[in-house]
Amino acid sequence: MAYILALDQGTTSSRAILLDRQGQIAGVAQHEFPQLFPAPGWVEHDPLDILTSQLSAAVEVLGKAGVGPGDVVALGITNQRETTIVWDRETGKPVCHGIVWQDRRTAPMCARLREEDVEDAVRQKTGLLLDPYFSATKIAWILDNVEGARRRAEQGRLAFGTVDSWLIWNLTNHQRHVTDRTNASRTLLYNIVEDCWDDELLRIFGIPRSMMPDVVWSSEIIGRVTAPLGPAGVEIAGIAGDQQSALFGQLCVAPGDAKCTYGTGCFLLQNIGDRFRLSEQRLVTTLACSPAKKLEYALEGSIFIGGAVVQWLRDNMRFFASAPDVEAIAASVPNSDGVVFVPAFTGLGAPYWDPHAAGLIIGIRRGTEIGHIARAAIESIAFQVADVLQAMDADTGIPCRELRVDGGAAANNLLMQFQADLLGIPVHRPAVLESTAQGAAYLAGLASGFWSSVDEIAQTRADAVFDPHSDSSGVDRSYARWRNAVDRAKGWNA
Ligand code: ADP
Repeated sequence: MAYILALDQGTTSSRAILLDRQGQIAGVAQHEFPQLFPAPGWVEHDPLDILTSQLSAAVEVLGKAGVGPGDVVALGITNQRETTIVWDRETGKPVCHGIVWQDRRTAPMCARLREEDVEDAVRQKTGLLLDPYFSATKIAWILDNVEGARRRAEQGRLAFGTVDSWLIWNLTNHQRHVTDRTNASRTLLYNIVEDCWDDELLRIFGIPRSMMPDVVWSSEIIGRVTAPLGPAGVEIAGIAGDQQSALFGQLCVAPGDAKCTYGTGCFLLQNIGDRFRLSEQRLVTTLACSPAKKLEYALEGSIFIGGAVVQWLRDNMRFFASAPDVEAIAASVPNSDGVVFVPAFTGLGAPYWDPHAAGLIIGIRRGTEIGHIARAAIESIAFQVADVLQAMDADTGIPCRELRVDGGAAANNLLMQFQADLLGIPVHRPAVLESTAQGAAYLAGLASGFWSSVDEIAQTRADAVFDPHSDSSGVDRSYARWRNAVDRAKGWNA
């Protein structure tokens, strides 16, 4: 038997997944690693924890499945995006912990740059916003705060990488310092129109060009793993940031194809083809994976609280013992009876971007029960996704015709049916909900000839389809009520 190995390096755990030629999962291993919170708003990872947890997961999945490295045709990597690691080229040692995408320590630098009026130039070149979320200000922070780092960087002695770069640098015994275009497009330093690290952006953020990795395509042969353990000798042939990997894993390869991942938060991405376009709805533009090795773009909108609203009902309200129980409780009532839940626990993301919005539950009456609130919570996930999809449709002028879904909360049938009713389009849920890992595996499998085409891969997949119900008047009323409730939630903490 022959397999593709996908390494899925996430924010809280490193996973390794084996896929066979039929696209079936032949093994999964998962290793969690520590989250470090050294100060309020700071989030760090030890790069060595990332590396060892990822290698351990790879070794374990091969061992459990009884597969030797000789049976693995190629390896694909997908990773938490934006997280920033700087290391010494000579020793290979990181100069400090990695700064995680969630870390807000560089908010003052972003505010200062905004005052200098550079945001528009940055947007035109990168498709992003000036926000601590992206890598550039995190690199600058390391150069300014780690003793001697700026001097060493200016002497060409330091390297920067996102997690994909760090893993590949180590897996290839320091031979390859690379990243792919999807990861590069999240740094605020890559010009996604001209397809290069941008000197003006490097100057704005004060980062020496010599630190930057070489940029490769998401689906190409990059080098062999030299580590003595696990996938020794296997060719690395795919790289993508997690959300773009999920977009590809859902085979959203044509303009207009869109996917939504329903995890802790929700991430909606739509392939917009080969023409760069800036959102007028406060979405970001980013590079998508392209096995054809040409620039392709996606619009992206992130929702902070998706499945997390269900966690909140479980852990804080103690309405039920496990997340999937929410479905039966929500189904115990025919509708939310006018209750609307806006889960703006940490403000609102796309398309509202209101850090001052507050969570609210409104429309509560004497007869309101747990079921109504649970149902309103489920509906809030779908309403937020509809808000982002409407913004995307307004940007592209092409209404989305179907939505492909994945992530833990996509297992909820009531949510998926409500989503289809609300959007008025079919919702497609694949039998295997591992789109992120599948994306990296497909990229590596295409580059290595394991699969011959996207069409061949498509034949290995089967979807459950949720078709919209024809009578939408009740749904329209409830969506209008949602918009009213959002208006009331906005600005509350200002
Ligand atoms: P992440 O990758 O962000 O950790 P997952 O894709 O594993 O997230 O999904 C976990 C999230 O999905 C949790 O927030 C959980 O509350 C929610 N969830 C899991 N199962 C269900 C379900 N059946 N219905 C609704 N939400 C669910």
